[in-house]
Amino acid sequence: MELSRRDFLKASGVGMGGLLIYRPFSTDTATPSSEFRPAPQLHKRIGETSTICAYCAGGCGVLVAADKDKLISIEGWADHPINRGGLCTKAQSLFQIRTVDGKDNPRRVTRVLYRAPGAANWEEKTWDWALDEIAKRIKKTRDASFVQKDSAGITVNRTEAIGHLGGSALDNEECYLLAKMNNALGIVYKDHQARI
Ligand code: SF4
Repeated sequence: MELSRRDFLKASGVGMGGLLIYRPFSTDTATPSSEFRPAPQLHKRIGETSTICAYCAGGCGVLVAADKDKLISIEGWADHPINRGGLCTKAQSLFQIRTVDGKDNPRRVTRVLYRAPGAANWEEKTWDWALDEIAKRIKKTRDASFVQKDSAGITVNRTEAIGHLGGSALDNEECYLLAKMNNALGIVYKDHQARI
């Protein structure tokens, strides 16, 4: 039988749909799917809606209950195919983005704060000051630590004195630019908030 590309995609879609439907109700105790529980009914009398966690590209499902502007609860969405109700600690802190009366949490840092080495207090600075200072320190550290060739004479063009830690709230485009910048600078120690 000749199978066109369109037929193949249609058949694959049905197969995948079947897989998604089948897994939650699998009786195979050897697979993680056996741990799946059917979604609880949305039962709160206040507004309850589903959404996606804002913190990383995992895309875990979240159920949010709110009474107008007031946030009442955030919990894992048990029927979501990615997280099946589980949330990591970052998502559990989603609640802290806003206070229960709908205002921004006053403990969120929204301006540049700087504490000089050895100082006890934080000073408020401008973004221009912070960016210039970061650029100056990167240049100084990179110049002092740059390695062109390793001990075997292989060209490596790297610095091992600077590390970069990415944040889960970064989007694809920001991550792309940061990866380019890190590679251009020769930074080899890179990690990500979601992994730690
Ligand atoms: S931060 Fe945690 S809960 Fe949120 S999408 Fe990533 S892994 Fe899922």
